[in-house]
Amino acid sequence: MKTNPLLLCLAFLPLRAGAAELVIPQVPNLGADFILGADVSSLAQIEEAGGRYYDQQGVQKDMLLILRESGVNWVRLRLWHNPVDEKGAPLGGGNNTLERTLGLAKRAKALGFKVLLDFHYSDFWADPGKQTKPAAWKDFNLNQLADAIYTYTGDTLKAFIAEGACPDMVQIGNELNGGMLWPEGKTWRAEGDPPVGGMNGFTRLLKEASRAVRENDPSGKAKALRVMIHLADGGDNQLYRHVFDAVTKAKVDFDIIGLSYYPYWHGSIAALTANVHDITKRYKKDALIAETAYGFTTADSDKQGNVFQVYEDESAGFRPTVQGQATEIREVVNVMARTPQGRGLGVFYWEPGWIPVEGAGWKAGEGNNWENQAMFDFSGKALDSMQVWKAVRGSRSDAAVPASAEPVTVKVTPGEKKTLPSKIKIIYNDDSIRLAEVQWDPYDFSKEKEEREFVVSGVIKGGTLKVSAHITVSSQVNLIPDPSFESGKLTGWTLNGPAAASFAENNKANAHSGSWTYKYWLDKPFRSILRRTFKNIPNGDYTLSVWAMGGGGEKGIKLFASDFGSGKTVSMTITNTGWQVWKQYIIPVIKVTNGQCTVGIYLDTNADNWGNFDDIEFSLVKKQEAGL
Ligand code: CA
Repeated sequence: MKTNPLLLCLAFLPLRAGAAELVIPQVPNLGADFILGADVSSLAQIEEAGGRYYDQQGVQKDMLLILRESGVNWVRLRLWHNPVDEKGAPLGGGNNTLERTLGLAKRAKALGFKVLLDFHYSDFWADPGKQTKPAAWKDFNLNQLADAIYTYTGDTLKAFIAEGACPDMVQIGNELNGGMLWPEGKTWRAEGDPPVGGMNGFTRLLKEASRAVRENDPSGKAKALRVMIHLADGGDNQLYRHVFDAVTKAKVDFDIIGLSYYPYWHGSIAALTANVHDITKRYKKDALIAETAYGFTTADSDKQGNVFQVYEDESAGFRPTVQGQATEIREVVNVMARTPQGRGLGVFYWEPGWIPVEGAGWKAGEGNNWENQAMFDFSGKALDSMQVWKAVRGSRSDAAVPASAEPVTVKVTPGEKKTLPSKIKIIYNDDSIRLAEVQWDPYDFSKEKEEREFVVSGVIKGGTLKVSAHITVSSQVNLIPDPSFESGKLTGWTLNGPAAASFAENNKANAHSGSWTYKYWLDKPFRSILRRTFKNIPNGDYTLSVWAMGGGGEKGIKLFASDFGSGKTVSMTITNTGWQVWKQYIIPVIKVTNGQCTVGIYLDTNADNWGNFDDIEFSLVKKQEAGL
């Protein structure tokens, strides 16, 4: 194909001169050696596959140079033992062989970065879910593994030192929640699993790896080459105490506790803060965020589903925007900078350069599941969030302010006494989402006898942001407390059937409202009933409805009501006709005569049938009049 070079140039011209200014208050008292780091392990493979990077002015540059010019001062590099399959083909995900990782370390050192070397002690990804031994070590017992980890760690460091690229910090293993080099170094065991080495096996391997680092430290006893032990789940203090109590008891020689902190998985900023404060004090060790990241968008560029999807922000407290990404980084930097006694060393952002390029996916033959958490757009141009690294050391000191409120809607029955929420979700101008207290204008719903809609106004306490609650007075009230499944649980429902097949799902693309639904799918046929019973309800006419969509092809799906006094079951057949083709199914009248009713959804499926239910409503339409 012939390419017009002029068009290529135009495609990467910046949309505007310079960058938009984001709201990024400084982090006070950030020392010059505070680590503002980036994991760049995939870079060489992305470049080989044709990926190119552009700074915020649209000038093509080495990605490492863009990071350096933006204020990043450390890089982190993962190392796999021998990342190839049985036939010798590269496994992908960066193909981080010794040669490749050493090459990246040399490039980074030449640009003045310090280097954290991340031993996975595996041929491919090691994380809390898998710590697979390298194929070359697969038949080794604990004694042999202890020798192997000592020799391999030492030989690797010798190779780096020989090339003038000695790392400045080494992490002996990656996300070791459940130990390393399973099963000999595994610390937990599920029922029916083969025996594991437990904490004794794990700490023995750590000691051998640490000993190899100490013996190869060019500074000798000065311990300039620091040793880190890294877990995931940065907000989980119980996990950190469980592991580091054992590591300390076994007298493993290490310097730093590394944490992964992805706010949509690992708890709130407050939970992270509490954990970091506790472990630095309890073990008298420094701490470091070895990995964090956040989505600047929920878009996907390559049809390889992304780790960060719609509504991950719901749990995280930041909007999925370029500003939200910068704010997440700023907040994590802030936590570490405020750690008592200067024990918070810094923060590494995980793979800010992982742009979508064919041939540089998370594994060979697959796409990219990280591109919306990169700090470059899908074409490789640095995002405005890249400003965060300098801004945290900058001069802007004004705090973020409330910018808008999430809408409040309240339904009341005539004369019902109900209070408005005292706290509501506010979006600040730095795209953080926080709860704020509201001062509502006086209201008295008990005086509302007629069906009508109106607005109650309020103001954020201590601020000027005006908020409003939209009130609907209606005699028809949904008796199902969580009609859109937004609690993420099937609370109050009884499920008869396989839990693996029908469950609450979090995916806005599959939701009629909010992000959660009642979902079903299984690779084999199954039957299930989801039901709940209402007792002590007024007799009268009720209506039952649900929204549904799905692939279709089931033997039968029914919305039903039973046990309401007539002895009969009423039901309506649901027929799904496609993804996001939502239809509402309504049973208009259920005559309750015994003060109770059971409602539910019945499924009888073939293998691989799937669908979602949302916004289920069971409401009293007309009360039975006294004496009837
Ligand atoms: Ca993707």
